Amino acid sequence: MNLLPDFRFHRPASLEEAVRLKAATAGTRFVAGGTDLLVNLRRGLGEPSGLIDLTAITELSAVRRDGGSLWLGAGVTLADLARHPEILSDYPALAEAALAVAGPTHRAAATLGGNLCQDTRCIFFNQSEWWREANGYCLKHRGDKCHVVPKSDRCYATYHGDIAPVLMVLNALAVVAGPDGVRHIEMTAFFNEDGSAHLNLAAGEVLAAVVLPAPGGWHAGYAKARVRDAIDFPLAGVAVALKRHGGVIGALNVAITGTNSAPLAVSTGDLIGRPWDGDTAAALAKSLRAKANVLRTTVMGSVYRRRAMQAMTRRLIDTLWDR
Ligand code: FAD
Ligand code: SF4
Repeated sequence: MNLLPDFRFHRPASLEEAVRLKAATAGTRFVAGGTDLLVNLRRGLGEPSGLIDLTAITELSAVRRDGGSLWLGAGVTLADLARHPEILSDYPALAEAALAVAGPTHRAAATLGGNLCQDTRCIFFNQSEWWREANGYCLKHRGDKCHVVPKSDRCYATYHGDIAPVLMVLNALAVVAGPDGVRHIEMTAFFNEDGSAHLNLAAGEVLAAVVLPAPGGWHAGYAKARVRDAIDFPLAGVAVALKRHGGVIGALNVAITGTNSAPLAVSTGDLIGRPWDGDTAAALAKSLRAKANVLRTTVMGSVYRRRAMQAMTRRLIDTLWDR
């Protein structure tokens, strides 16, 4: 690990001040729990001129009812998300996903905003400085070629966040604040499929909150495959929200993570009105294969990750179907 580079440290007390500081000081980054960013900085991945610490902004750690919706400040820690009574009762899949992130000490500091905005990952990128230098660096940082897809002119590093797919299947909105005011975007539109520009955030914008719509009768869950169950990023993860109408599927949302440069919604429109049986499961598996672009970005082989994603999805829907 490298020493941390020199930077100025800012600790604003309001969102407005954070946004103003970001606009006024070039090369600064936001930091919340630091469990993703500081590790990367210790590997020499980036040299920000300043860090804007968001943890003193009290409005960011609020969880509150807003009509039927639930407002989650971007600064709420994952430990708090996983034990919040209203999340446990109305959105248990979100608590499940929060509890599946890293280990307990990470979750005590890690935030919802940091989880959603975490960087993409790749075995050629999340390495020490000397290792990357010995390999000629790569497109994402300091180099000019991709080692995963050598003829590509874009980075295929993978998004491994656990929370985003759950928010996608629950139809959550992201609340983004910036120099031009506040905008709301659907969680599915918050990400771009590009390993070095995977967030739909303009320079100077900050994720202020996530809004969950009223629960609405969904049965939802999250499953992930990882090397070490106690603490690890998803090699593949899947979130499902299902409504069953008698013997057929009334509504179905599926989103995947750990496979592409962004968490992605999987198309399920053709499955509505069908029973959950072998044929329907095979049709869904086909959509999953079409959406997932699993490449050699982790230590685990792509074939295993693709198969795990399909098997977990089927098992998760089996469970939700009987619930
Ligand atoms: P930070 O490190 O503070 O920030 C992460 C990024 O988000 C930075 O680029 C920062 O600028 C940006 N950011 C933070 N807040 C905002 C905001 N409000 N608006 C805009 N940008 C913002 N993650 C998983 O999802 N699943 C895992 O299983 C997992 N396992 C891990 C295991 C280990 C050993 C480690 C070190 C990390 C792991 N992580 C995992 C990654 C990380 O711990 C989590 O994603 C965590 O939730 C990040 O939150 P944070 O508040 O610490 O983010
Ligand atoms: Fe680098 Fe390619 Fe990996 Fe992106 S996918 S981090 S460019 S090696």
